[in-house]
Formats: sequence, C-alpha cells, structure tokens
Amino acid sequence: MRNILITNDDGILDGGIIRLAEAAKTFGQVWVVAPDGQRSAASHAISLHDAVDIYPHDFPVDGVQAYTCSGTPADCVRVGRLYVMPQKPDLLLSGINSGYNVATDLQYSGTVGAAFEGAFQGILSAALSEQAESCHEVADYYLPELLAELLTMQLDYGQIVNINIPGCPLSECKGILRDRPVSRGAFYRDTYEAVKTLPGGGVKLMVKGEYNEDAEPGTDFRAVTEHYVSVGIAQNIR
Ligand code: MN
Repeated sequence: MRNILITNDDGILDGGIIRLAEAAKTFGQVWVVAPDGQRSAASHAISLHDAVDIYPHDFPVDGVQAYTCSGTPADCVRVGRLYVMPQKPDLLLSGINSGYNVATDLQYSGTVGAAFEGAFQGILSAALSEQAESCHEVADYYLPELLAELLTMQLDYGQIVNINIPGCPLSECKGILRDRPVSRGAFYRDTYEAVKTLPGGGVKLMVKGEYNEDAEPGTDFRAVTEHYVSVGIAQNIR
C-alpha cells in the first residue's frame, strides 16, 4: 500500500486540497497535514523559534487521516513525515493551489516550497496549481492520468514535478505539454502602493500586482496561457 502525504498553502479548508485528496486516494493511503489558514507566498520557510500546533481534522474525504498545522506548508511536510506518519511517504503532493505557479512565482510559492521540502526529505514530490474561479473540469479530467504518470517518474536530488492546470472548460483544453522549462517572466509585475501614513513618519504599503503576460514560447507559462496542462521539472539546490 502506497502512503501519500498531501499539503497545500491555501489552508486545509480550501477546495483544491479536497479535490486532490479525492483523486489521490485511488493510488494509496492518503494523509493530509495542511496549514490552518492561508499561507500563500510562504515559500520554503519553516518555524524555528515558534512551536507548531497540530490538531486532528475532520477532513471531508473518507479514509483520509488529516491534521491542521499552525506552521508553514514546509512545516506541514516535515511534521507529516517526521511526526505524524508511521513511515516515509512514497509520494508528496502539494496543492491544488488556487492560481498558477509558473515562471518566477515558483520562488515565492508556499505550494512549491512544500514540494521542495518533500524533495529534500527524499520523497517523490509534486506541486499542483490551477487557475480557476469555478470550472475544475480540466483538473478533474486529467488528475488520474497526471498522478499515474507522476508515480513512474525518477527525479534527481532537489527536483520536483510542477504541474499547472488551466481553468478553462475541458472542451477548450488542448492537452498536456510535458518537459516545460520554468519561464523567466513574471505573472504579476509588482509595485507598492502607500495606503496609509503612520505616526512617526511611517507609511503602510500594500503590494499591488499587475497582470503581465510575459510568457516566452516553450515555457510553463506559455503552456497555460495557451490552455495546455503544463508539466515540468523544477530544480532547487543540488
Ligand atoms: Mn496559494
């Protein structure tokens, strides 16, 4: 029996992690350890000076043992692997994130950070992301095939599989593009906006992302803008 650990960065109540656990449970015993709230852009951060609190969670997928964790997505992987699960997982899945993780966004992503933690732990790991308001047809259709394919992949140290799924209707999806390199573009071009002046000469700033379709041909980013599922390998330190 395969053991599968699932986490995300949008929190344990997000719909994406529930749909991922549903799809994954046909491939093995699923464990969920996920943040107790929103942790997007947490990257690969871990908690060192603060304790992390875990609680059993009544997860809405039968047969899944689940815990919330007060830490980061990477903490969830570490706690799942090193404390909760009786043995090392065979597969770590992070997602399904709400919003693409393509191009330079990978560096900030808590979804991707958790997958890299899985890779550091020597577990076959993948990040899954989807840009969808309400239409999950493409994800629901392709997930079984993507997970089966993932289980056959051999990765080197520090590598993860990064999967991005367009949120278009299934009839508009053109299929899967594999071996997509990470774009050097940016999904959002960020600026900072002063929203309030603070006592003592301070200013309260909010990041403001402006959509910027800077997607070179052949990349992960271009694949999703053209309504393909993008599959690629992302590399951390080696
Ligand atoms: Mn997120």
